[in-house]
Amino acid sequence: MIYINAHSLYSLSTDRVELEKWFRNLYILLSFFGLHKDNIYVTFDDFYIDENKLLESLISLGIKNIYIFYSPNLLSVDDMSSYISINSSKPIKPGNKKNLLSIKSKYPFIKIGVHGMSHENYSNVTLEESVNLFEKQIEYHKHNFDEECLYFAFPYGRAPDEIINRASEYFHFTFLSDNRYKITTYVEQDKFGGIINRRHLEIGGNLIKLFILLLREKLK
Ligand SMILES: [Zn+2]
Repeated sequence: MIYINAHSLYSLSTDRVELEKWFRNLYILLSFFGLHKDNIYVTFDDFYIDENKLLESLISLGIKNIYIFYSPNLLSVDDMSSYISINSSKPIKPGNKKNLLSIKSKYPFIKIGVHGMSHENYSNVTLEESVNLFEKQIEYHKHNFDEECLYFAFPYGRAPDEIINRASEYFHFTFLSDNRYKITTYVEQDKFGGIINRRHLEIGGNLIKLFILLLREKLK
């Protein structure tokens, strides 16, 4: 599996032609390793409203494995003061519930998961608080999206081990971006689940880095 955090695609042009060119090269690279586009997983954290365009492009390029993570308390918030600043360079405006619901009905294959009630940093909350937050998100998702809440991505990509372990008891997939955890690249997983680290896939569009990574995995 190749997990690509959509944030890492921003360094590519969102221009459709450029994106297509990059993905065509990616497909060629993957075929060298006996992989194809079904092995690509793209995850959107926070999901800005203006990411709809990127999402549509990915779908038209045949990417089917797409995960979107939202924070319930940040949906439909238009107030600039509540924008989250992730990489400090660019404040983001999370998508709204209406938009997510329309994506869900238009593309039922897209998986929607949660990303903290308010994009909180789980390194700064107690185990008890984090459990309470997991339960609230699960409840919110069931109530508002009418489905089980199976996917969770830690805001800021990390948390203490005990909280990560607890999260994996609540969610089928728990996404991290933490170097302490073993990377998951293209390990064959029929029925996969558990904790997935995508740190290494913050590739910023650089296919050479990905090539080296895949080669290293293959030589293991
Ligand atoms: Zn986030």
